[in-house]
Amino acid sequence: MRTVPGTGSVEDWDAVLVGGGVMSATLGVLLAQVEPDRRVLVVERLDEAGCESSAAENNAGTGHAGLCEFNYTPRRPDGTVDPGAAVLIAEQFAASLVFWARLVERGELGPPGAFVRSVPHLGLGRGADGVAYLRARVEALRGHPLFADLEYSDDPDVLATWLPLVMAGRTEGEPMAATRAAQGTDVDFGVLTRQLLAALRARGGEVRLGTEVTSLRRRGGRWELAVRDRATGARRRLRTPYVFVGAGGGTLPLLQSARVPEVRRYGAFPISGRFLRTDRPELVAAHRGKVYGHAEPGAPAISVPHLDLRVVDGRESLLFGPFAAFSPRFLTRGRLGDLVRSVRPGNLPVLLASVRDNRALIAYLVRQVTARPSSRMAALRRFVPTAREEDWRLVDAGQRVQVLKETDGRGTLVGFGTEVVTSAGGSLAALLGASPGASTAVATVLDVLDAGSPGRRDEWGARLAELVPPPTPDELARARRVLGLAPVLAVGGAR
Ligand SMILES: Cc1cc2nc3c(=O)[nH]c(=O)nc-3n(C[C@H](O)[C@H](O)[C@H](O)COP(=O)(O)OP(=O)(O)OC[C@H]3O[C@@H](n4cnc5c(N)ncnc54)[C@H](O)[C@@H]3O)c2cc1C
Repeated sequence: MRTVPGTGSVEDWDAVLVGGGVMSATLGVLLAQVEPDRRVLVVERLDEAGCESSAAENNAGTGHAGLCEFNYTPRRPDGTVDPGAAVLIAEQFAASLVFWARLVERGELGPPGAFVRSVPHLGLGRGADGVAYLRARVEALRGHPLFADLEYSDDPDVLATWLPLVMAGRTEGEPMAATRAAQGTDVDFGVLTRQLLAALRARGGEVRLGTEVTSLRRRGGRWELAVRDRATGARRRLRTPYVFVGAGGGTLPLLQSARVPEVRRYGAFPISGRFLRTDRPELVAAHRGKVYGHAEPGAPAISVPHLDLRVVDGRESLLFGPFAAFSPRFLTRGRLGDLVRSVRPGNLPVLLASVRDNRALIAYLVRQVTARPSSRMAALRRFVPTAREEDWRLVDAGQRVQVLKETDGRGTLVGFGTEVVTSAGGSLAALLGASPGASTAVATVLDVLDAGSPGRRDEWGARLAELVPPPTPDELARARRVLGLAPVLAVGGAR
């Protein structure tokens, strides 16, 4: 370390990862695995890691594996269903499970029950069209080993055993069907993040909490980060040949401060998530899964309604949502001026084009933000007809910063999918976008590694394979055993 007059001390690191969320934590462990001699520093502005989007209370905790989320299985014009995206996300989640299990086996992570549990995933189809879609969906996924335990039923008696809370009090005789996968999971990504960072520390990495990166510059072929200790106000500089910006909602502002040309025309719009929550034991006892339905007309895919059993700190509750809300902050503990400060001459045209080209979405958001409690209860009663207002309360979840960019002359939302941005020959990598996120952290971070060090996968092959072997059926079965999850048992079709 050396001191430069007027700038505070300068520290040199081989890699600096900005943000202590699940993405940086996963990347940190994988970097330490492939290049154990590299000195890795994670810098987090809050006093604890995993407290923004990765915190259990700030996301839905669904281990996204394509088992129940209809947005991964679009209907083709001929009525059949395209399974491609569901299979891809199932494979990506399998890679995450295998990675976590390998770390548990080495004694670096755990106990696994603190961050991942079996919670069945169900999909709910309503009306003749919804039932036909669900049947076509099962048909498309049937036969794929990652969906071997997917059961389908339109028998009201079976549905009443799978979904007692959802089926109670229904009189209207609307056709209904459901799928159920016992292999589904609920994940506490906040606990997972902190365990991964502990694993990184044990491997020689450093995690500095309460330290905010205030600016980022490319200087003399390296990256220089200005950081501020939020408790003492002390400032210093970090210098590194490689920087990863995994700052969640804080990523775009940092890239803008660094004048990264690749994002010059990117804009951002924050959308907060909210859920209705109940802790009443009899309701929780009557709903033992995560059940996803169809998005309402005009609603974005991220707003697909679901009723989830959650397990946080060993306590069970039910969450229903998400409902969109508005806050101009880019992080739940961000600043009120975040949105205004992100508007630049370079991205103004994209912001305006996004307003012009996403009217249905804007109308949906306005409806959501101005919704009365009674309309949220009405949405809940479509899932739980017997729901009583006094049993449920509205809770805030995380901030999603939707990235806006221009595609073929139209302002579009990077709504579904996480985008890896690289700059300066791969010496900077960053993640933009909000979903599917945490579940696919391993796959995303492997893309980040590839982008930062093109062609080095082969060189790292054996070391990487120790933590991220191909998720073969045997490997996955072993991972599920190690993590204490229900095995995937093949079922014989419809019930
Ligand atoms: C409502 C909602 C529901 C979701 N549901 C699911 C789900 O069911 N399943 C799923 O897999 N994913 C879900 N997601 C997505 C998932 O939560 C995120 O994709 C994931 O947590 C992102 O992790 P991250 O590490 O990129 O960001 P974060 O966890 O947000 O971490 C970023 C960190 O960077 C820090 N930081 C920011 N700026 C700075 C700075 N300048 N200096 C230092 N530190 C900084 C922040 O304090 C924060 O700790 C959901 C998201 C939302 C909002």
